[in-house]
Amino acid sequence: MNKPLANDALTDNLRKAQTYLARFKGGPVPHRIAGESVTGAETFENYDPTDNSVLCNVSSGGAAEIDRAARAAEEAFKVWRTLPGEKRRALLHKIADKIEARAEEIALIESVDSGQAIRYMAKAALRGAENFRFYADKAPEANDGLSLPTETHLNYTIRQPIGPVGVITPWNTPFMLSTWKIAPALAAGCTIVHKPAEWSPLTAVILSEIMSEVFEGAGLPKGIVNLVHGFGESAGKALTEHPAIKAIAFVGESITGSHIMAQGAPTLKRVHFELGGKNPVIVFDDADLDRARDAVLFMIYSLNGQRCTSSSRALVQRSIYDKFIAELKVRVEKIKVGHPLDPATEIGPLIHKRHVEKVLSYADHAKADGAIVATGGKRAMEGQGNFVCPTLFTDAKNSMKIAQEEIFGPVLTAIPFEDEADALRIANDVRYGLAAYIWTGDVGRAHRVSQSVEAGMVWVNSENVRHLPTPFGGVKASGIGRDGGDYAFEIYMEQKNIAIGLDKHRAPKIGV
Ligand code: NAD
Repeated sequence: MNKPLANDALTDNLRKAQTYLARFKGGPVPHRIAGESVTGAETFENYDPTDNSVLCNVSSGGAAEIDRAARAAEEAFKVWRTLPGEKRRALLHKIADKIEARAEEIALIESVDSGQAIRYMAKAALRGAENFRFYADKAPEANDGLSLPTETHLNYTIRQPIGPVGVITPWNTPFMLSTWKIAPALAAGCTIVHKPAEWSPLTAVILSEIMSEVFEGAGLPKGIVNLVHGFGESAGKALTEHPAIKAIAFVGESITGSHIMAQGAPTLKRVHFELGGKNPVIVFDDADLDRARDAVLFMIYSLNGQRCTSSSRALVQRSIYDKFIAELKVRVEKIKVGHPLDPATEIGPLIHKRHVEKVLSYADHAKADGAIVATGGKRAMEGQGNFVCPTLFTDAKNSMKIAQEEIFGPVLTAIPFEDEADALRIANDVRYGLAAYIWTGDVGRAHRVSQSVEAGMVWVNSENVRHLPTPFGGVKASGIGRDGGDYAFEIYMEQKNIAIGLDKHRAPKIGV
């Protein structure tokens, strides 16, 4: 790890993290298939983003490992699907208990593995437990449906689990996102093969360990949850193509979603996609600008800007543009870039050196296209790690690459607009449609713009605040389907209607 400036909290976190990470240092990190630790012949290196040294080696799965895992999930499904919802409820709460008990370990490992600042990862670990508790409490009624008794029929609908599900997750906040998919799938009665991202695979190991302990402790089959590490083009592809896997719950880039759709087509795979975003935050001149500034900064620079709902385009009304942007720039330059385990750090290193190159290339695009690099656009903490300066591009046009493409780093593109119609036109002029943020003091305008902005989620006078029962997901190239609440069950369940003819019922006679 990069030598950080010493401070007590950081030193303490580094010491604890090293202790937790020691287990990964020996042989390659194994898959977990049907409860067994399986080490493949192929491995890949997992890097520390603070200095790009090798953190550990990880088993790299392919078609053979996916096949074993999918078959184990198929076998375990026969039992898990029949378990009463109350039992599933108790087991998912036990998983949440164990996540809470290991929250410090999860947060520290996640922070080292992904480069995300520890101040955010501590909450993300606990959010993982909340996801399990929320869906635990839904399990008893998850399979209930409509009951419509008539004089002639007992007519009812049940929701049955679809079968083994492939869960494919990205490298940003990987623990929280994995629980977001896995908890509702288990509550619904599905079994799982999980393929985590190759750039941050470690907390998936802890999650699979916790879930396996709980299921095995209850005497249940060992293949309810399976974990296969590896690359998208090998393990990921094999998972999407496997005939025993009935649905794919995927979080990642839009282009990967297209690949998965094509790979899953021969087996008519059901897909649920949470994809990329280029989310606008629209600041009108009648807004509370102090609050708006805090939210704009938080929603693009926290979590290193590696967040699907980050407000990466700031559309600011021309009448307040210069002042608002000048004040923003002062704050951007004060953001603390540092070691992810330092509680004072606001931006840690980006996930991977290849990602740094991608993010910094947008400074060249900005200049070439005629925008201004107001601050940043270069490496921070010069050295060998993946640190970049928080970056602000100003005076951009929405047609520029910096306004159209998902950069997925601490980079904000500011664009002036004239009036409400102009703001909406710019906001909607991208292929994505995940989230939108509106800042205004006019409730009528808030309502109008919310109706017309092309996004799955709109926050007015607020940063992204999640309430678990509400739907989460995007339109256009940002996704298919919704997470959250009962919405998440739509991918994991089939609706079955059953109509039982009662004594009074007789089919119309023919042939008499
Ligand atoms: P990615 O698409 O490169 O990879 C995501 C996962 O897909 C990884 O596990 C990868 O190995 C796997 N994969 C890659 N190619 C595959 C293939 N052909 N078949 C099957 N699996 C394959 O995404 P990433 O770079 O890891 O993550 C960042 C992206 O995720 C951003 O676009 C971000 O917006 C998006 N994201 C979206 C949400 C949301 O809720 N909408 C949440 C978080 C992240």
